[in-house]
Amino acid sequence: MTKHLIVIGGGAAGFFCAVNAARMDPSLKVTIIEKNNKLLSKVRVSGGGRCNVTHARFDIVEMSKQYPRGNNFVKKTFHQFFTTDTIQWFEERGVKLKTETDGRMFPVTDSSQTIIDCLLREANKYGMEILMRSEVRSLRSEDGQFKLELSDRRHLASDFVCIACGGYPKSEMFDWLKQTGHSIEEPAPSLFTFNIPKHPIVELMGVSIENARVRIKNSKLEEEGPLLITHWGLSGPVILRLSAWGARELGARRYEFGVVVNWLPEFTEQRLKERFLQLRKENASQKVVNKNSFGLPARLWEFLAGQSGIKSEWRWADLPSAEQNKFIKNLCSYECVIKGKTTFKEEFVTAGGIRLSEVDANTMMSKKIPNLFFAGEVLDVDGITGGFNFQHAWTSGWIAVRAIANSQ
Ligand SMILES: Cc1cc2nc3c(=O)[nH]c(=O)nc-3n(C[C@H](O)[C@H](O)[C@H](O)COP(=O)(O)OP(=O)(O)OC[C@H]3O[C@@H](n4cnc5c(N)ncnc54)[C@H](O)[C@@H]3O)c2cc1C
Repeated sequence: MTKHLIVIGGGAAGFFCAVNAARMDPSLKVTIIEKNNKLLSKVRVSGGGRCNVTHARFDIVEMSKQYPRGNNFVKKTFHQFFTTDTIQWFEERGVKLKTETDGRMFPVTDSSQTIIDCLLREANKYGMEILMRSEVRSLRSEDGQFKLELSDRRHLASDFVCIACGGYPKSEMFDWLKQTGHSIEEPAPSLFTFNIPKHPIVELMGVSIENARVRIKNSKLEEEGPLLITHWGLSGPVILRLSAWGARELGARRYEFGVVVNWLPEFTEQRLKERFLQLRKENASQKVVNKNSFGLPARLWEFLAGQSGIKSEWRWADLPSAEQNKFIKNLCSYECVIKGKTTFKEEFVTAGGIRLSEVDANTMMSKKIPNLFFAGEVLDVDGITGGFNFQHAWTSGWIAVRAIANSQ
């Protein structure tokens, strides 16, 4: 007798699960239920329209360190379907991926449409059923069958369900999942930038620093990497990484906290003092604001000098020790107070979701309800920016379906 799999959600995880299900077990009837009138909408906008499909990391332990939540879970799942499998899967279907210098992988076409077309082609090939504008309102398991109620009051039944509905920003949106008896880790935004309203540093908007170290005061959070000053505050990979690792902690502080920036992370204050002694000799007759020997953007150097009370006409030889010490401090430990966040529009992710202890990482099956599976961002797994979230979506979708195919 034909068995029926219903996949809830027409995003990356749901599609990957559905197309592989139809391929691995052609006898299975597969239906995707999507509440919107668009499929794969996040894939379309992802990576600035280019879709950062995965990341060129080929070591499972190293890869799992990129997930602030769920790193132990993905360590297990990646043993079954990893970055290499993703690259191969798409390549076998005519989609070649390329690697950028920072490790992010994109289709060679630089267009997310290539990924969408590939997944839709697969769906057509296997004749899957897709129900659009249909929101699942409730789900219950009864006598070995699932009963689903849709927003238009239609009722459906199936043998297997894979929940791939993505992350929800608000706790109450998880209510229909809570009713299945699963626990939810409270949602919190991840991947956001830091606002510093009315701070003079925002005059430097557009300035980017190749490598800065940023520490959050009164916490263990510290990261190093490229930093960008914007018209509202601080952004760039180092800030996004901090926001991901600190998603819960910074949320609990209502996004108000102090940060300390070291614009020259290769120097401590002590080492910089020693370097300044040399610079005073080497550059004695040159103006401090003009002679930046550290490769920092000129506007930032001038700004920090100005904030340290250094006049534009002062030369290195005449630099008073009070201003020099202040300058060294501003270069190594520049403090500012963050008030608020801005969601990073390029790659917004929600932390939280289905509690991982209730899901078997070997099959993605619920430990509470047999034949109920989870895939993608609905789980309490989220990665930093760089293709890690999609990798989790592909991996979990694939594992769920392999378990379904094996159970037949
Ligand atoms: C702008 C943006 C850019 C991004 N760029 C990248 C990137 O380049 N690389 C990367 O790794 N990650 C990126 N991400 C994160 C990545 O898109 C997500 O982690 C990923 O899409 C999660 O896939 P998913 O299938 O689990 O969920 P989703 O893509 O959110 O799909 C879930 C689907 O389920 C539907 N749904 C929800 N509830 C129901 C219901 N009750 N009934 C029926 N349908 C329902 C939703 O409408 C949605 O279509 C980006 C995110 C955003 C917002």
